[in-house]
Amino acid sequence: MARGCDCLAMHVFGLVNPLQTKLNALKSQGLYRSRRIIDDKNIVNFCSNDYLGLSKNENVVAAFKKAADDYGVGSGSAHLICGHSKAHHLLEEELAEFTGRERALLFSTGYMANLGSINALVGRGDFLFEDKLNHASLLDGGLSSGANFKRYLHADLTQLEKLLYKARGEKLIVTDGVFSMDGDVAPLRELAILAKQHDTLLMVDDAHGFGVLGQTGGGLTEELNLTQNDVPILMGTFGKAFGTFGAFIAGSETLIETLIQFSRTYIYTTALPPSIAEATRASLKIVITETWRREKLQTLISQFKTGAAQLNLPLMPSDSPIQPLFVGDSFRASKMSEQLLEAGFLVSAIRPPTVPKNKARLRITLSVLHEAEDVSRLLETLCKLEKTKDYSI
Ligand SMILES: *Cc1c(COP(=O)(O)O)cnc(C)c1O
Repeated sequence: MARGCDCLAMHVFGLVNPLQTKLNALKSQGLYRSRRIIDDKNIVNFCSNDYLGLSKNENVVAAFKKAADDYGVGSGSAHLICGHSKAHHLLEEELAEFTGRERALLFSTGYMANLGSINALVGRGDFLFEDKLNHASLLDGGLSSGANFKRYLHADLTQLEKLLYKARGEKLIVTDGVFSMDGDVAPLRELAILAKQHDTLLMVDDAHGFGVLGQTGGGLTEELNLTQNDVPILMGTFGKAFGTFGAFIAGSETLIETLIQFSRTYIYTTALPPSIAEATRASLKIVITETWRREKLQTLISQFKTGAAQLNLPLMPSDSPIQPLFVGDSFRASKMSEQLLEAGFLVSAIRPPTVPKNKARLRITLSVLHEAEDVSRLLETLCKLEKTKDYSI
């Protein structure tokens, strides 16, 4: 560190800089996070959520460019002031039809959709139940809501039921559809029944299911044939299989009007650029009609799972494009990620606090942009790394 910085830090914090101490502690535990600029065309990317390869699709890109010409780049304000364009409106109508819900509402990101919806629906005196492995945005929504907030063990319906029996008042259950760091799916049919029996609202964040699961890419609720009546609050994002950016909540007229009135992350933020809304409309058409993308993805998933089983690789149980390879130790996960990069594969190491302590993993994601040969080469490399069990750093 430059001398000048040290002096400034000492001036602000006294002799020991507490921020630097915290950063050093992360480094010593193998938990330090850093960013990497990704622009090497020779590296095969196995960590993107662009499952259907739509982020670079020519129709999606063309729709984006045309809308930028028509509307300009920014939306100029929040939806309730003057940021709500025809592009946003049409996308909302198409999403309502796509999900079989009465209405849909756009949010600028999935994080905001989750934070804002939970806070609009429950507060002090209400009860909120979330799966322990839910996405951070859902957990943050719970913490900030002021509701009586309980986290049940992953997919544990028995524990959830006990908690529901004890709760008196307004109740909301919230779960990921496809779990983002494990790739497994929530027992949604059973959760929907439990929610009805206990007169409880159910919210599902299907960020990783949309585009990938269901006949038309309608996600886990389409695959399980669950309607608005079963899952009244359905959340999806555009940054994953849709290949664009932003998010939505779908549900009843009353739900959407409630969010428009009370969701602070909807009211107090700039609307998505209309060009993003137009790009997402183009992407939605492809998601629905080009079923070959889901079929190819499923073939790659099967190839990867079968290959990994033959090689005895410690894959975690998942049928989705999220295929985590269990490592445990954080240093080793980081080291393996570096070794994979040297071999030409981009695979991210996921470490605590994103996942529980001693449960670091390599989160491998498959995409339509991969070919069978990429998957075979990745498997070979993983096998070599597993054999060497190289813990040195
Ligand atoms: C990515 C993700 C989000 C956040 O969506 P953004 O649009 O990236 O903010 C929320 N929930 C889950 C399960 C996710 O995977």
